[in-house]
Amino acid sequence: MSANVVPKCPYCQSDMEPGSVAAESLTGGAKWHRNRSMLALGGEKIGDYTSGGMVWFDGFRCPTCRLLQLKY
Ligand SMILES: [Zn+2]
Repeated sequence: MSANVVPKCPYCQSDMEPGSVAAESLTGGAKWHRNRSMLALGGEKIGDYTSGGMVWFDGFRCPTCRLLQLKY
């Protein structure tokens, strides 16, 4: 995925909006789970961690469909 190319939303075909998702990473950060579980144990750590205690995901969103397309 190139940052110079704005993808179209696969649902409504509108241009997607570039940006980043940020979350605090102080208590474990972001993990990918194939299935939700009660305590979210395990999972694969994903994202771009900074020394400021944040985890970032760069990508695009469609505000109409509330769809995120993120690079991790
Ligand atoms: Zn859309």
